Amino acid sequence: MLSGRNIVLGVTGSIAAYKAADLASCLVKLSAQVQVVMTWAAEKFISSNTFETLTGRSVITSLFNQSQSAIHIELAKKSHALVIYPATANIIAKIASGISDDPVSTIASACYNIPIIIAPAMNERMWQNSTTQANVKKLSSKGFYLISPEVGFLACGQQGVGRLASLNRTLEMIKTVIKKTTQLSGKKVLVTAGATREPLDPARYLSSPSTGKMGFSLARELSWRGAKVTLISASSIQPNLLDVDIIQVGTAGEMASEVKSLFPKCDILFMVAAVSDYRFSQIRKTKLKRDKESLTVKLKRNPDILSAMAKMKKKDQIIVGFAAETEDLIENSQKKLREKKLDMVVGNYIGYPDSGFASETNKAVIVTKDQVLELPLMSKDELAAKIVDEIVEDLLA
Ligand code: C5P
Repeated sequence: MLSGRNIVLGVTGSIAAYKAADLASCLVKLSAQVQVVMTWAAEKFISSNTFETLTGRSVITSLFNQSQSAIHIELAKKSHALVIYPATANIIAKIASGISDDPVSTIASACYNIPIIIAPAMNERMWQNSTTQANVKKLSSKGFYLISPEVGFLACGQQGVGRLASLNRTLEMIKTVIKKTTQLSGKKVLVTAGATREPLDPARYLSSPSTGKMGFSLARELSWRGAKVTLISASSIQPNLLDVDIIQVGTAGEMASEVKSLFPKCDILFMVAAVSDYRFSQIRKTKLKRDKESLTVKLKRNPDILSAMAKMKKKDQIIVGFAAETEDLIENSQKKLREKKLDMVVGNYIGYPDSGFASETNKAVIVTKDQVLELPLMSKDELAAKIVDEIVEDLLA
């Protein structure tokens, strides 16, 4: 089941650390290659020798006495998942704030290109602490997989929530996540992102407030699921995306010619970009002076890339369009699906503080021929995962 999969098992300083030995043993039995990494505090609860015997590999307990100086980077490159079992309030807080001052948090900070599964274990008081809750929420919204702690007898003798998730639940989660990482293996995917810019003169352009975040989140998620992703970006932000080919474009015309040349060889196209519907009829070579009281400029319509690709589409290709709307989201998204002959439309509200352009979150609806899935407000990373789930379960099944 997990043969050929490299799993990093991070163990931190909770009384439940001894349970990680069972997990390591089960993962080895499922044919995974397991590399254990321990914090200093974890070693107070369980010996590294136990893990060395179970996994047949030396355990990383410090990043300073390794023969390989960049072991955390090497692990991030070759591993398929990082599982932190058990995760203390401390490690959760460190990862949520980007601190990397021990072997587990340092490896976690380098592992943003692979799924990270976190199983918290702590006293109920620490679990209910609002800072811990905020940190957990932050990690979930960034796409980390949290296995919620269970209610039961805690080490301090109290009954409450905070017990480490059972071995079975954790193994199920690891298997599901690992399965997801190969769901799109062999698929070539094209994603467009950002706002195109139509120049008027060397100092001015016509564009939209789109930053490209939604497209970047999708590109990351698709790459995590094993797809070969090419991102055509019109955004001025440089996305932090490993294993994704990035082509930078400026105008809608440049985006159209890149999409046109790459679309025939791709399996799925996500047109997330805010493509300018019009361009200036004339682009001035020198800066326009503001000496006139009023100025009239003429605009010319840009080609609709999405509709053009839908006309070229072969039977087994999938096209997903986006709809940015201020009202009647479902009706407008369904109309777009029909009129542009698409397989899926993701509609999202714009003009609200927490949804649409430049925000970290989005309130969206996923529309296909057979269904309408209305989603609550969520982070763009979470929405990207939902969109890919729908593609896999509905359109590729
Ligand atoms: O028709 P509307 O512009 O609202 O449709 C939005 C969808 O169409 C988005 O997926 C966007 O990327 C795409 N689009 C396009 N070419 C244009 C304008 C929009 O591909 N010229």
